Amino acid sequence: MSLHTAQHLLSSVIDTALKAPTLTWSLTPWPSPAYIDLPRPLTVAEISQVQDQVNSHVFEGRRVHVEVDELRNGQVGIDLGQPVASSRELGRGLPTDYSGGVHRMVIIDGIDRTPCCGTHLPTLSTLQLFLFPSPTSSSATSFRHYFLAGPRLLNHFGSVQALLTRTAGVLSCGAPETPERVMLVVEESKRREKRVEDLERELAGTLGRQLAEEMAQWRAADGEGAWARCLSRTDDSQTARAFLQTVTLAFAAHVPEQAQFTLLLVSSPSSQTSSSTSVVMLLGTEENHIKTVSDELKKQFRTLKGGGKGSRWSGKFVGVWLADREGKTASALLS
Ligand SMILES: [Zn+2]
Repeated sequence: MSLHTAQHLLSSVIDTALKAPTLTWSLTPWPSPAYIDLPRPLTVAEISQVQDQVNSHVFEGRRVHVEVDELRNGQVGIDLGQPVASSRELGRGLPTDYSGGVHRMVIIDGIDRTPCCGTHLPTLSTLQLFLFPSPTSSSATSFRHYFLAGPRLLNHFGSVQALLTRTAGVLSCGAPETPERVMLVVEESKRREKRVEDLERELAGTLGRQLAEEMAQWRAADGEGAWARCLSRTDDSQTARAFLQTVTLAFAAHVPEQAQFTLLLVSSPSSQTSSSTSVVMLLGTEENHIKTVSDELKKQFRTLKGGGKGSRWSGKFVGVWLADREGKTASALLS
């Protein structure tokens, strides 16, 4: 009820002062802000002007009353002069299919006369109104302007205040410092992310090179046939797969062309339970051998699932993967 009266007032002030007629409006369910759609977005200065004007009418405590005329024989509502899908939506006029028998006019003293069949407050005095800063959505022809008044406005400021207090508490600062503090946290987080990426790339490069060196030493110590190695890592990152991928690229870059190898990389979270997921990556030089090894691994570890192409295979293992237990078992299946 109070939002409906506020909508009449708001539409009237905007139309009179800025020649921007209300195209559609909605009072929306509690506690969302209601809105009016205008043919253009209002500027910051216009919004402030409208809000000042509306609230000065509120503080004047203007009266609202209803005038009723009997409709003459055969006469229906008010013809708005333009075909609209639902004139009930317009907020300024009776529906053209209105058949209440009377012509009802809602009047805000000295400000507005609008045909309307809705219920209204008797006075504007409790309708302090807040018009949101800028349209949050628009179509080609209309711009949505949200507003709040009366009890819904108080409720809104209460919940916004609670959110702000909570956020300021988390950031250990006063409410006015919150935007700057959030900005700082976001910037720091971006910098940290970039640093983590740089370090990960460096670490993956080092790991790949170390594995290649290990293989070269094994070869130098008369290692025969294909070199096989299982590396189990602990990593709580969400991008463990990408990290293992970078390790394999670095490894491949340091391995002599004719070298024969089978390499299994496993990345597990630091705290594991029966539902933990480990990322598994297998690569080698013999396509057939990779197929055989992946089949053997799946047979050995029933919760291991995955697929591959050529000399690469990757998948996920669900459960606890320990380097000394699962890692050792897997190692034995590689050669
Ligand atoms: Zn109305």
